[in-house]
Amino acid sequence: MRYLSTRGHADPKRFSDILLEGLAPDGGLYLPEHYPQIKTQLPQLRRIYREQGYAALAHALLSLYIDDIPATDLRAICEKTYTKAVFGTQAITPVRQLEPGLWLQGLSNGPTLAFKDMAMQLLGNLFEYELARRGSVLNILGATSGDTGSAAEYAMRGKRGVRVFMLSPHGRMSPFQQAQMFSLQDPNIHNIAIEGVFDDCQDIVKAVSNDLAFKQQFHIGTVNSINWARLLAQVVYYFAGYFQVTDSDAQRVSFTVPSGNFGNVCAGHVARQMGLPIAELVVATNENDVLDEFFRTGIYRPRSAADTLETSSPSMDISKASNFERFVFDLLDRDANALRTLFAQTLPTQGYFDLSGDARFQQCRSRFGFTSGASTHADRLATIRDVWQQHGQEIDPHTADGVKVARAHRSGDAAAVPMIVLETALPVKFSATLVEALGHEPARPARFDGIESLPKRVTVMPADVQAVKNLIAQQAGADTA
Ligand SMILES: *Cc1c(COP(=O)(O)O)cnc(C)c1O
Repeated sequence: MRYLSTRGHADPKRFSDILLEGLAPDGGLYLPEHYPQIKTQLPQLRRIYREQGYAALAHALLSLYIDDIPATDLRAICEKTYTKAVFGTQAITPVRQLEPGLWLQGLSNGPTLAFKDMAMQLLGNLFEYELARRGSVLNILGATSGDTGSAAEYAMRGKRGVRVFMLSPHGRMSPFQQAQMFSLQDPNIHNIAIEGVFDDCQDIVKAVSNDLAFKQQFHIGTVNSINWARLLAQVVYYFAGYFQVTDSDAQRVSFTVPSGNFGNVCAGHVARQMGLPIAELVVATNENDVLDEFFRTGIYRPRSAADTLETSSPSMDISKASNFERFVFDLLDRDANALRTLFAQTLPTQGYFDLSGDARFQQCRSRFGFTSGASTHADRLATIRDVWQQHGQEIDPHTADGVKVARAHRSGDAAAVPMIVLETALPVKFSATLVEALGHEPARPARFDGIESLPKRVTVMPADVQAVKNLIAQQAGADTA
């Protein structure tokens, strides 16, 4: 299998070459040259999942896309990643019924209690494997306001050949999030609290990455959400959800996906393109409704940082959906020239693009199953409260956005198809909103008892690029000495 850039001006590459890369050199995103078709293999995949479990299913699906890692090694990587010890249950992503026709699929039982662990844990093991194979090292530099950073740290802790330098805004993460990250004592994990806001952190990461000499000398890399391996890992749980809710391959299901950067739901798109019987993919946004606006109107209008609202489902507070370009590439029948015009010309000059008049946009729903809805703070609170009162279950604010949009969507013909809402975080991560909705603290898994009082390992620094570079150089110096 080879990988192409959505913008059409990069050489095709193999999986292990794009694994450690970010954007393609032409500014595009990598996609496989085709989606392997699994329709006739569904009974066999179902059997693998039933009899051998999630890790075996992951291996069966990943091996359709990865042909440059020996099968036994890939199998071992999947088995090491998707264990009950790491994800809490044998099912890894257990499905539970909320009400007739509506299900929740738990993707947030990993080490940091958010769905990003599903992909990041695999990435950690793939990175360690590939770096060892190349005799190379990687210094991951990132900025986080919460979820991504902690998922990256828990995935990379103790991994040979990898160091993590994670910048976060000093004093601005919740006490629980700070405790999660700063309590890690692994010598290869470096927490750097910047005296500033999240944008300052991100600016420092950009400035360091733009210094190409420094970047090369110290093997600087990232784990951002456009990495194809992350997306691929997420394809697996759409299959696992489908197999849990159906007993025959003639049945269809729909998924509602709380969305920000369009990474999670893009994996659903890939699963559907492979032939998994998904009726609809419902994109749920919060007040930052860039994606809902597109699926309703055909206009894609990324917001400025100033126009991006701070909401109570903060992991969906995005201004531009970094994975969206992948879907548009397929929507345009993989016409890289047309895609390049939209993303490299129209968008930068005009600030938006408009596909409303394009027949292919009008087929978004019939051909690709996409539809959407949005949720507000009041909706979130009402949904959390309602799910608690009716079902005695606590759900997190992002999942609540999903449940709200899914319920609104389930009428007429759509009501006949089982709907799976992806649960993207556990409520304990967002306790302030749960308290606001329910008047009590959400349940906390026992392993997190007293986490706030653990010793913290963090360096506080001014928002100064050179100071951060010095720290990286000092820690990573041994590699180049
Ligand atoms: C990252 C995240 C999302 C959004 O996922 P995307 O892949 O960016 O669309 C939703 N909910 C939670 C809890 C997250 O951490």
